[in-house]
Amino acid sequence: MCDIFSAFKAVHVKRPEGLSPASVSFLPGCLPSFNGICMPETGDVVNLSMGASRNEFDNISPDLKSDDPKVVAAYMKENFRAFRLTEEGYLDWAMTQWTEQRWNRTGQVHCNRYSSLECGIVMMGDSVHATSPSIGMGMNTALRDAQKFVELLDEFDDDLGRALPRYTIDRVPEGNALTHIALNTYCFDAGVQARSMLAQIARSGLHYLFPSLVDPDPNALIGQPQYTLSDAYDLAMGQGVLARHREVNQRIRQEFFERETGTVRTRREERGRSSGLVRGAMVVAPVAACAVAMFMKKQ
Ligand SMILES: Cc1cc2nc3c(=O)[nH]c(=O)nc-3n(C[C@H](O)[C@H](O)[C@H](O)COP(=O)(O)OP(=O)(O)OC[C@H]3O[C@@H](n4cnc5c(N)ncnc54)[C@H](O)[C@@H]3O)c2cc1C
Repeated sequence: MCDIFSAFKAVHVKRPEGLSPASVSFLPGCLPSFNGICMPETGDVVNLSMGASRNEFDNISPDLKSDDPKVVAAYMKENFRAFRLTEEGYLDWAMTQWTEQRWNRTGQVHCNRYSSLECGIVMMGDSVHATSPSIGMGMNTALRDAQKFVELLDEFDDDLGRALPRYTIDRVPEGNALTHIALNTYCFDAGVQARSMLAQIARSGLHYLFPSLVDPDPNALIGQPQYTLSDAYDLAMGQGVLARHREVNQRIRQEFFERETGTVRTRREERGRSSGLVRGAMVVAPVAACAVAMFMKKQ
């Protein structure tokens, strides 16, 4: 459940020195159990979105959930490590922005049709492929949806009968590639994720040295105008990394929901231990019985 965050708040703060005015900055662990993303805005301000993943939300400090801006400001000042603000900065952050804002939730939307001729509708952006901002491509993909639709209207002379079905055919692979990559590019299992990162570094180095022999890391394709998200998805599937992460993530997510809802009350490891004992007993008991029978016969 270690997505970048699933419950978050967003605040606007004056861009601190050292933070890029032109690119997105990721702030992992900016508060205990929190991750953040900082995006530049106009007027030398940054939009700082930060929050916790679903399974961590209950563990975050109660101070962050307080309605009292002074409590929030004191907590931020003490614990926020990504950059420093002035005293008034912390209070402004807590007073007008944090405490008056509800917790936002990231969600996931998957659709296999983005248009309907019968209903005369076309859908784009988050309405058909909302996802975690972990790869920061939601807005880009939304803009591409719009661009593609305009191109198709031009190509088919505003004939919706031809443009709408083609729009679905062209954009569904992109939307689905976006949501699958955003959800599974990072593995919830820290060990698997660490191994994937090492492989990613090795692959990038080898690709740099032998570009015609070694394919690039799929993440390097994301955001490059000459590649689509489906290209990155296809490469990641070919290299096995996405399928591996998806399998682990699905299992961890399923186990989390089973525990959270009480559908399964014993942990898998405990089940494993007790079924191991039963299996062991099932082997040992007949062997012991045979040994006793043979011993008795000899007597
Ligand atoms: C923290 C965070 C960081 C992100 N970072 C990036 C990034 O770096 N790069 C990137 O490409 N994407 C990023 N995204 C994703 C991006 O913000 C979204 O994918 C994008 O805004 C989707 O655009 P949209 O027009 O489809 O939806 P929205 O931007 O959500 O627009 C929908 C609009 O419809 C309005 N609305 C809703 N209901 C109604 C109604 N009933 N009547 C009238 N209006 C209504 C809403 O108020 C809203 O203004 C990020 C998202 C988050 C949450």
